Amino acid sequence: MYPMPNNPDLHCHSTVSDGWLSPTEVVRRAAGNGVDFLALTDHDETGGLAEARAAAVAAGIRFVPGVEVSVSWRGETIHIVGLGVDADNPTLAAGLEQVRAGRHARAQQMSDALAALGIRGVLDGALTFARNPALVSRAHFARHLVAIGLMPNVDAVFKHYLVRGKPGFVETRWAELADAVAWIRAAGGVPVVAHPGRYRVSDDEMARLLAAFVEAGGEGLEVVSGSHSDAKMSKFARYARRFGLLASRASDFHGEEESRVDLGRCEPLPDGVTPVWSRLIDRF
Ligand code: AMP
Ligand code: MN
Ligand code: MN
Ligand code: MN
Repeated sequence: MYPMPNNPDLHCHSTVSDGWLSPTEVVRRAAGNGVDFLALTDHDETGGLAEARAAAVAAGIRFVPGVEVSVSWRGETIHIVGLGVDADNPTLAAGLEQVRAGRHARAQQMSDALAALGIRGVLDGALTFARNPALVSRAHFARHLVAIGLMPNVDAVFKHYLVRGKPGFVETRWAELADAVAWIRAAGGVPVVAHPGRYRVSDDEMARLLAAFVEAGGEGLEVVSGSHSDAKMSKFARYARRFGLLASRASDFHGEEESRVDLGRCEPLPDGVTPVWSRLIDRF
């Protein structure tokens, strides 16, 4: 029998995407918080996994290599986490490279749109927050706009400038849902719908999304997420049962100041769901 983890956390970010801590610092902080089964899941990028794995060995915790793929589905941006992926798999690597390719042009367009409002030099400013310029994200824009005093915090910047309908928002075409699922599976990973409670979709659309995800070969759903209330955890436990999806538990930690839930400090999974780590403990 493979031991079940006591405190799994299967979704978080490092400086390789839009987290504040290096992969090593993420692992050390997780271990310090009692996490014993950790996945690093940077956006569209696996460049932090080797460092994180080495840090996990040093800290004596189990490590699951992961990634969070940006997907466009019916005009909505959906995030699909891949757990237990082989980062060297050429199908996954090529897919992620294609997803990353649009980021710089989009960042330039965002910067131009904000310049039209008189807010200048935003791309350069955002890049000072992006340790990995290939992964420049709205989070880096938001940090810069807070730093220059435009808004008091990152949430306010998103709300007033960076979400659809606001002046700094630029429509982006990310991966197709079925492609993201296929890349993750090609790399030996388990595809999981990230933070379902964050999508602005009706219950009918959520059911349609999950049906399409299962149809494509998707297997898991983040029932416990740093962005879920208790009510949402119960709601998504019901969706997991209805669609036969494995349940994940994930802080989605980005940094002390920006995250409501610290590494490993999420709620336990509700009763009546099958943990996604049942599919991972024999390999990691
Ligand atoms: P991007 O992939 O460039 O569109 O950036 C998305 C990232 O921005 C997410 O992964 C979050 O880290 C962050 N983000 C998105 N929406 C918000 C929000 N409303 N408030 C704070 N951060 C957000
Ligand atoms: Mn992020
Ligand atoms: Mn996400
Ligand atoms: Mn995330």
